[in-house]
Amino acid sequence: MAKDYGEYFNVAHIEPESHIYGPGKRFVVWLQGCSLACEGCWNQDMWSVREKKLVHRQQLLDEIHRTPDIDGVTLLGGEPLQQPNNTLWLLTHLHAQALTRILYTGYELDELVAMGLLDHINRVTDLVIYGRYQRENRQINLQWSGSSNQGYHYPPASRIEARPSATTEIEIIISDNGAVRLLGYPDEVIRDIVDQLPVSS
Ligand code: SF4
Repeated sequence: MAKDYGEYFNVAHIEPESHIYGPGKRFVVWLQGCSLACEGCWNQDMWSVREKKLVHRQQLLDEIHRTPDIDGVTLLGGEPLQQPNNTLWLLTHLHAQALTRILYTGYELDELVAMGLLDHINRVTDLVIYGRYQRENRQINLQWSGSSNQGYHYPPASRIEARPSATTEIEIIISDNGAVRLLGYPDEVIRDIVDQLPVSS
């Protein structure tokens, strides 16, 4: 269920330079809060709508524009469309920039139509990766998505030409304090290896 934080995003995590959530180097934002409760969801710590980190939408937009050499922005979560006003505001204000915009959502396209959002989304995104995560359809060799039922929607004016390939991609981020963060859709072996590293977050 959507919760209103005014002009603030409830943010779970930000990676200013990631390479696995769409083509090129991307500023990636995980938004906090999701009520869709997909069985087997890997981001269950992002289900709660309790405030994790509130970031004013203008501050986030400015931070994105200050980040050098990125090709685009990717929003995921959590469920970005359970913070619909600010998500659409951010995508709209990125529209004039050269940055491409990717939106992950657990909603199906017909649900977005029923919610009255798809027309707006079509105007302000270059790619929408949609649909619930389904554990029984888990897929570790499909670029940019976690289960094979999820779809790729390229709006008519999309500037993204790249199409997903049969590729397994993960990203391991080691921060200055030694914390290790594993991103993407790894198999259990890789996950276990990262879990056993001395410092993990
Ligand atoms: S939509 Fe995404 S964050 Fe929400 S439960 Fe499903 S997989 Fe998890």
